Amino acid sequence: MDDKKQKNDKGMSRRNMLKWLAAGTISAVAGSYGWRRTMSCGKDGYSTAGVMPEIIPTDKMTYRTDPHTGKKVSLLGYGLMRLPVKEGANPNSDEVDQDMVNKLVDYAIAHGINYFDTAHPYHKGMSQIAIGKALKKYPRDKFFLATKMPTPHMPTLEQAKEIFEKQLRDCQVEYFDYYLLHNLQTIEVYKEIYENRGILHYLLEQKRKGRIRNLGFSFHGTRSLMEYLLNLDLQWDFVQIQCNYHDWDRGAELPAWMQQSERVPARWMYEKLTEKQIPITVMEPLLGGRLTRLSRSAIAILKQAAPEQSIASWAFRFVGSLPNILCVLSGMTYMENLQENICTFSPLQPLSEEEHKVLDKALDVFLGNRTVPCTGCQYCTPCPYGVDIPAVFAHYNKCVNEEQMPKDRMDEDYRRARRRFLIGYDRSVPELQQANRCIQCGQCVSKCPQWINIPKEMQKIDRFVEKLKLEK
Ligand code: SF4
Ligand code: SF4
Repeated sequence: MDDKKQKNDKGMSRRNMLKWLAAGTISAVAGSYGWRRTMSCGKDGYSTAGVMPEIIPTDKMTYRTDPHTGKKVSLLGYGLMRLPVKEGANPNSDEVDQDMVNKLVDYAIAHGINYFDTAHPYHKGMSQIAIGKALKKYPRDKFFLATKMPTPHMPTLEQAKEIFEKQLRDCQVEYFDYYLLHNLQTIEVYKEIYENRGILHYLLEQKRKGRIRNLGFSFHGTRSLMEYLLNLDLQWDFVQIQCNYHDWDRGAELPAWMQQSERVPARWMYEKLTEKQIPITVMEPLLGGRLTRLSRSAIAILKQAAPEQSIASWAFRFVGSLPNILCVLSGMTYMENLQENICTFSPLQPLSEEEHKVLDKALDVFLGNRTVPCTGCQYCTPCPYGVDIPAVFAHYNKCVNEEQMPKDRMDEDYRRARRRFLIGYDRSVPELQQANRCIQCGQCVSKCPQWINIPKEMQKIDRFVEKLKLEK
C-alpha cells in the first residue's frame, strides 16, 4: 500500500494531519519513546511534534557503510524493546501484538530500514520471537539482525550456550549480523562472565563458525571499563553506546560512591572509538524520550528556530550528523513514530553550525530545571516492595518539564500547582506504588544503567510530596 493511499484510508487529509500535529501528537510521540499514549504535555497544548510531508519517501533513507563488511546499513535502526502490545496489556509484557509488529516491520523495510535490534530480555523474550516471525518472509541478505547476550543475568557458560541457540531458533535465523555483550557496566562483572566463565571465547568461536558476523558490546559503564575493553587484544567489530546531545559533554550520572572521573561523556567514547576505527551504533538518542519532553522554555527555543521540525528530530539529527555513527536506534511503538522518524532520516540533514548553537541554548535552559535522568527502561523493576520506580520519576519529571512545580508558598499559583501535582501523582501512580513505599533497601541501584541513586531520589520525592500534603 502506498503512503498516500494509507493516509486516505485513515481518512487523514493534510489539513487534518496538520491540525492533529498541532493539537495532540505529543501523546503519540511520547508513547513511542516509552511513555503512555495518553501522556499530554500541558493543558495549553504546546507541541513537540513536527509537520510530516504529504508523501513519506521510500527511497531517500540515509545509509552508512560498515567499514568491516562493506555493507550499507540504514542510519535509522529499529529498536525492538518497546513493541506494540495487545489492548490493555502492560507495555513491557510478553503480550506482543504480532499483527502490528508485522505491519511496522513491513513498512520499515519498504521505506529503507534494514537494521533491527532486539535482545533476550525485551518483552520477556517475545521481542526475539516477534521479529523472527516478522522477518521470516524476507531474504536473509535484505536485513541485519542484532541481538545480545544478557550480561545482567550472570549466565554460566552452559546457560550462555543455551541462550545463544535459543536466540537463533526464536529469531528463525542461522546467524546474527551483529551480536553484543549486553549492558557492560563494570570491569569485575565483565571479567567474571566473559573471561573467567569463558563466554567471550565461546562467542568468538561462534563468530569463526559464521554464526555471528560482527561481535561488539553495548556499554553503560565506567571510563576504566571502556579503556580496558579497547585495550584488549581483540578487534571489536562495533560498539553500541548511549549518545545524545544531553550526554555529549556530560555523560550519564554516576553514583556518589564512584569516582566522578569515571563518568564517561559520549564525546569521549565517540572519539576513542573513532580513533580505533570501530563503527558505533547508538542507543538512547532521545535519552528514553526525555529529549522529546524538554521543558516548556527549551521547546520554545527549538520551535522558534524551526517551527516545522519535531523536537525529536533535533536529537536524531545531532547524532546522525556524526560521521562514525553506523546506525541510530529508535524504539518505535506506533506507526506515527515510524513515519516521523523515516522522514527525519530520508535523507538525514546534518545540523548546521547555527543549529548546533540553538540546540546548546535549549539544552542549557532545559538543564536549569532539575529532573531525574530516568529513561523509563524498567531495568530496575520489579521493586520487591512494589514501588513503581519509573512511574514515580515520570510524574515528577513531567511536572518539572512543564514548569508546573509548586515552588514558593508566596507564589500566586502555588495552591493550584500543589493541587495539580498531588492529584496527578495519585492518578499516575497507584497509592501502594508511590515513593513512600520505598524502604531504602538499595536492591534496584545496581540495575539502573543511568546510575541513578534511586533510594535517594525516592526519599527526596517522598519528602517533597509529604511537605505538599501538609501545606494546605
Ligand atoms: S530501594 Fe526502594 S525502590 Fe529500590 S528496590 Fe528498594 S524499596 Fe524498591
Ligand atoms: S530508574 Fe534507571 S533502571 Fe529504572 S527505569 Fe529509570 S533509568 Fe531505567
